[in-house]
Amino acid sequence: MDTDLQIARQARKLPIADIAARLGLTPAEILPYGHDKAKISHAALAGLQGRPMGRLVLVTAINPTPAGEGKTTTTVGLGDALNRIGKRATVCIREASLGPNFGMKGGAAGGGRAQIVPMEEMNLHFTGDFHAVTSAHNLLSAMIDNHIYWGNALGLDTRRITWRRVMDMNDRALRDVVTGLGGVANGHVRQTGFDITVASEVMAILCLATDLADLQARLGRIVIGYTADRRPVTARDLRADGAMTALLRDALQPNLVQTLENNPALVHGGPFGNIAHGCNSIIATNAALRMSDYVVTEAGFGADLGAEKFLDIKCRMAGLQPSVAVLVATIRALKMNGGVAKADLGAEDVAGVRRGCANLGRHIENLLGFGLPVVVALNHFSGDTEAEVEALRAYCAEHGVKAITARHWAEGGAGAEELAQEVVALAEGGGADFHTLYPDSMPLWQKIETICTRIYRASHAEAAPGLRQQLETWEAAGHGRLPVCIAKTQYSFSTDPTLRGAPEGHIVPVREVRLNVGAGFVVAICGEIMTMPGLPRNPAAETIGLDEDGQIVGLF
Ligand code: ADP
Ligand code: MG
Repeated sequence: MDTDLQIARQARKLPIADIAARLGLTPAEILPYGHDKAKISHAALAGLQGRPMGRLVLVTAINPTPAGEGKTTTTVGLGDALNRIGKRATVCIREASLGPNFGMKGGAAGGGRAQIVPMEEMNLHFTGDFHAVTSAHNLLSAMIDNHIYWGNALGLDTRRITWRRVMDMNDRALRDVVTGLGGVANGHVRQTGFDITVASEVMAILCLATDLADLQARLGRIVIGYTADRRPVTARDLRADGAMTALLRDALQPNLVQTLENNPALVHGGPFGNIAHGCNSIIATNAALRMSDYVVTEAGFGADLGAEKFLDIKCRMAGLQPSVAVLVATIRALKMNGGVAKADLGAEDVAGVRRGCANLGRHIENLLGFGLPVVVALNHFSGDTEAEVEALRAYCAEHGVKAITARHWAEGGAGAEELAQEVVALAEGGGADFHTLYPDSMPLWQKIETICTRIYRASHAEAAPGLRQQLETWEAAGHGRLPVCIAKTQYSFSTDPTLRGAPEGHIVPVREVRLNVGAGFVVAICGEIMTMPGLPRNPAAETIGLDEDGQIVGLF
């Protein structure tokens, strides 16, 4: 089979205005970026308010292998399949972070015959949204140092500034830097660092804001650091919120593109899945729901992290009511969860699959616990054997859910029609009774403990010294109603990436908490979390380039 890039390049794309028309949008309501991309204008978005909403389908997964289990691919394939069976379905996914593409990551536009196009652009500059986020973030950084330079009227303690700088590149050399070197004219020397753009709170804000006014209000609430007497200083105190909103005005409009089968896809925003919530923007999801019968969307990482945050952060804030959860599993990830070594994943191992099903079962239970009907989508790989697939099917049957083999990667939407039929049956069966895991009113530490014990099945969470007091201080300052966003490894229910399957009774050490008032959540960091990745020894960048026709090669 051709590579993802070769398949994407053979796509017979329709003009973007034709895709917009399918959503009921007139040419005046979109802002074309070339022939195959457009933004949906703020005016058009405002016009959608009050329209009835379609059904929301969440695609999530078991704990993955490092290669990814095909959530995006399944999201796209399911969207195409729903359209094939006569539903008006729109896919909503995140934009790609540019930096990791030059390292070793696969693309973010799906794979095989279930992709979104134009994939090269989506994986590179796209419509410039991430550049806008980078600029808005760094404008605030510049205004902080400028404020100090001109006398520091707010009394910022330069050792307590938490706002760093960002860029969309994997560059480990910038993790910790000293700024202001070179003499009096260059400001005050202080230690800071760079994160990758997708880790910026501005990115999370862009994805949770409901309109421009809400965007500016959230940007204004960003806490950038503290005074010597520990009072928080915000972006609004620095009067940075207006200019940041101006930089982000266009970026807040969702991007419309298409699948290989010419169905609409909104690709918008891309917050990290660990220190942020890891899903596409509320604006895009809301718009898609008002223009479609079905919206298929993806949450990052496994369901312990991605689905929990999608449900407890995004759906809570936006008042969204998902109808069904699709739990993606692969035979290789089941084997890995069953303790099979990475080098042996290619060989048939039915017992390994059976052992790994414990991981699947745990995710099924958790999703049912949120009140969502569940279907398991087996993302079929060519090496899967019939006996392995049968082991999965038998396990699911015992647990009262259907497991459906989906071949969208090889066959496009036609390969996922059975999955689409089941999604429709579950969604229209009205079985969903969605509720969040915890109420807003629960104290912050108890929210953390609830996630750790109920979702991760830990015996308890363990706070670093001073951490619970920190949470109490924030509660006293009026932030106690925020949801929590847990940052931990995606490879295990525990904080130990090597603990596969369905561990229980482990302890979750909470190392650090961070207050993201702008985004509207408290981050709890459990284990080592990287916010500025590095490049591998042989980065993909060494083989990316242009062919004689000026076409990009080597990107996946
Ligand atoms: P996720 O969203 O879970 O991280 P992706 O959908 O991005 O995963 O897929 C990760 C990679 O795996 C992509 O490069 C994709 O082409 C590949 N892939 C997905 N499904 C299959 C499949 N059924 N067979 C072969 N490769 C696949
Ligand atoms: Mg993905």
